[in-house]
Amino acid sequence: MEGEATGNSVPGTKRTASKAIRIALGVFISVTVVLGIVLFLVSQGLINLYPKQQYCLTSECIESAASILSKVNQSVDPCENFFRFACDGWTSNNPIPEDSSNYGVYPWLRQNVDLKLKALLEKPISKRRDSEAVQKAKILYSSCMNENKIEKADAKPLLSILKHSPFRWPVLESNIGPEGQWSERKFSMLQTLATFRGQYSNSVFIRLYVSPDDKSSNKHILKLDQATLCLSAREDYLDNTTEAKSYRDAFLQFMVDIAVLLGANASRAESDMKSVLKLEIKIAEIMIPHENRSSETMYNKMNISALSTMIPQFDWLGYIKRVIDTKLYPQLKDIGPSENVIVRVPQYFKDLFRILGNERKKTIANYLVWRMVYSRLFNLSRRFQYRWLEFSRVIEGTTSLPPQWDKCVNFVEGALPYAIGRMFVDVHFQEDKREMMAELTEGIRWAFIDMLEKENDWMDSGTKRKAKEKAKAVLAKVGYPEFIMNDTYINEDIKTMKFSENDYFGNVLQTRKYLAQSDFYWLRKEVPKTEWFTSPTTVNAFYSASTNQIRFPAGELQKPFFWGTEYPRSLSYGAIGVIVGHEFTHGFDNNGRKYDKNGNLDPWWSTDSEENFKEKSKCMINQYNSYYWKRAGLNVKGKRTLAENIADNGGLREAFRAYRKWIEEKRQGVEEALLPGIPFTHNQLFFLSYAHVRCNSFRPESAREQIYTGVHSPPHFRVIGAMSNFEEFRKAFNCPVNSTMNRGAESCRLW
Ligand SMILES: [Zn+2]
Repeated sequence: MEGEATGNSVPGTKRTASKAIRIALGVFISVTVVLGIVLFLVSQGLINLYPKQQYCLTSECIESAASILSKVNQSVDPCENFFRFACDGWTSNNPIPEDSSNYGVYPWLRQNVDLKLKALLEKPISKRRDSEAVQKAKILYSSCMNENKIEKADAKPLLSILKHSPFRWPVLESNIGPEGQWSERKFSMLQTLATFRGQYSNSVFIRLYVSPDDKSSNKHILKLDQATLCLSAREDYLDNTTEAKSYRDAFLQFMVDIAVLLGANASRAESDMKSVLKLEIKIAEIMIPHENRSSETMYNKMNISALSTMIPQFDWLGYIKRVIDTKLYPQLKDIGPSENVIVRVPQYFKDLFRILGNERKKTIANYLVWRMVYSRLFNLSRRFQYRWLEFSRVIEGTTSLPPQWDKCVNFVEGALPYAIGRMFVDVHFQEDKREMMAELTEGIRWAFIDMLEKENDWMDSGTKRKAKEKAKAVLAKVGYPEFIMNDTYINEDIKTMKFSENDYFGNVLQTRKYLAQSDFYWLRKEVPKTEWFTSPTTVNAFYSASTNQIRFPAGELQKPFFWGTEYPRSLSYGAIGVIVGHEFTHGFDNNGRKYDKNGNLDPWWSTDSEENFKEKSKCMINQYNSYYWKRAGLNVKGKRTLAENIADNGGLREAFRAYRKWIEEKRQGVEEALLPGIPFTHNQLFFLSYAHVRCNSFRPESAREQIYTGVHSPPHFRVIGAMSNFEEFRKAFNCPVNSTMNRGAESCRLW
């Protein structure tokens, strides 16, 4: 109140009073005029009164603020553990469901897509509106939901397979009836393997498939690889840890009990299945671990006759000819000894046939038919699934079965991906999403090239030029493959399958047969470089080295990954933007970098640049190796996860740079309006949005499996690893030099 004039306390003359009135009037008029001009300019949008304090109060902004707020835990220091800071709110409110081994934002979105598909599949069939393919999908779904029929059928459909060659099961002896009795004399391993692959789409010992020839990527070729085992981690067969032993014990007991449920004598089952497990352990020993499977060492192209000379114990040509159904593909009748194949794991095959040569035929037969039994168990009555649940309690930590509808949705989705994809995109995909995906892709492409030119000091100019050419050639595929919009094509594609609402098991076998033969369609045909065949409902994104494509199916393009144009761009750039960058960078990771812009495995790097790349990779391998994951009781495998870590780190940098460019160019440098109720800048929101994609919690069993079999680092370290290497992150959150989230001079960087 000091210095304020009031009529009573400050005396004055008339003269000074009238002068004061004139001054006051003058001030009043000037202020009014200025205010009027300001108001006019504000109303015309020509000036912004509070440029630093503008809030966005649209429903979209309020929705996204609430979404952010519900996930974070602001009591955690973002510079110490950004994952917990970003995700603790979400994970504490979203416990892992009993039927899942882990749960997070990705699985949540997957569940959300499943619910949408459930609603679509449960709509009654309309002969008028539904295409043939859609009608088939609905029949397939309802046959799977027909639990009364499935209970009534019990084990019968499987037993009828086990009664006949080539799937007679030694362990059942004569308990299945005289016709089902196994005989060593009549057993043919080749016949069993070939039927299993060719009719049921199951690969045991050998994986035979068709895909582009890595060095001639316009052409398709047959490839031979090692197949998977029953337990997901190779270590579970080999390690002597308490966990691994308990997994093997539970697995053995599971096999024994299933054999008994199907009619085997208990003590016979016990001794037979022990031998089966021993055999599988021997196979685990010779399998080539992921870290040693590089594109060059796996490229062993030879004709079948050369393969037969190298590994003469097996009739390779006979096997391949029995697998492929030449009634479907008459043009493949000409496959002979001169047919080229790529043998991806020669040493494994040499060892495999040495082991099989020394093994009893009965054990081999017991093992192969066990694999048939295991693969069809989920199509039988409840008692078989409850027995599986007991096993799953040990290896996955789950305590209940998924609901039948969820199982059925996933089955139909896997069996008829294009029919289901069409149903999904018709209702749930908005075409205008393409526009922002194009903006993001071009932003990422620009950022990658800009950093290559301005910040990369380890690559020579010749190699840089080729990298730039490859970056320019990356092709983005968004939403769904165009051909799913063609009803005639989709109907024709699945015309051989005729489903019945009352025969779930029979329907399943038809879908298996269809799947088993589908990739042979491509042999002798050119690789369609601009087409893609990803199921539109997939909640994931991909990079394809042979076509140099990045792929984003409709399932992935949803909140909280993809936010529409009405939402802050920081959220989209941080989530789907980083995912675009991640897939883009796969073209330049430790494996993708070996393929050129045309998708050929053809070295385009100078020796120096290649050496520098390898040296820089070591930094990242060591960084991730040092992360100990308490939940798993194990360290992250830096070498195994290198490609994904390179993609995460690159993707994050590219998307951030693209976001800042968008602000500069589209908003003349003016930041987006703040979100209400949360104290974050948009640069901070960008990083939060990245972390939110990764919010996930794990049961210990699932954590362990993630470390052993996953190619990604655990979500926690995908967030911490990439962010602590990035100077823009530490700037956004003011992270001091010695904090966990600021690796400072120790930071690793490739792109
Ligand atoms: Zn990836």
